[in-house]
Amino acid sequence: MYLNHDFPVAKPRPPLPRIADPKPMTASEYIRLRRRAAKLSEHDLAQRMASLYVSTAKRRPGDTIATLTKAMSLILRAIELPGAVARRRRTIASLAAVLPFDVDVYWQLAQCPPERHPRVCRGCGTSAHDHDAPRWATRTSCERCDPAGDGL
Ligand SMILES: [Zn+2]
Repeated sequence: MYLNHDFPVAKPRPPLPRIADPKPMTASEYIRLRRRAAKLSEHDLAQRMASLYVSTAKRRPGDTIATLTKAMSLILRAIELPGAVARRRRTIASLAAVLPFDVDVYWQLAQCPPERHPRVCRGCGTSAHDHDAPRWATRTSCERCDPAGDGL
């Protein structure tokens, strides 16, 4: 038999214990980091949100890109307030259409205890779930943000 061999079978080991994060990442900080990593100012992102709104939602009389950008700026500022969590899932879903971040990571950071948070870089907000998942320099920083691995 080809599949019959004499190698010993590896014994499954229990997973390593999680090390508590002294300063857990917040959902609002995650959005702020992703926006800065995309090199967008609050105004840039608000403009993108306003353009998306104009092209997808029914426009009310008096809605202009300028007034919508101002309104979106306020929403964005509220989302990025330290410790804030968006009230509506739809807000975060539409934000994800104009900013590269992971909606599931956002809600996991917002709703789960710190020991169940995904790994997120403190420099750029990229997570292990992103398409361009980083190589990790330390537990909380990727090699792009922290090439020497000194920690952020
Ligand atoms: Zn990074």
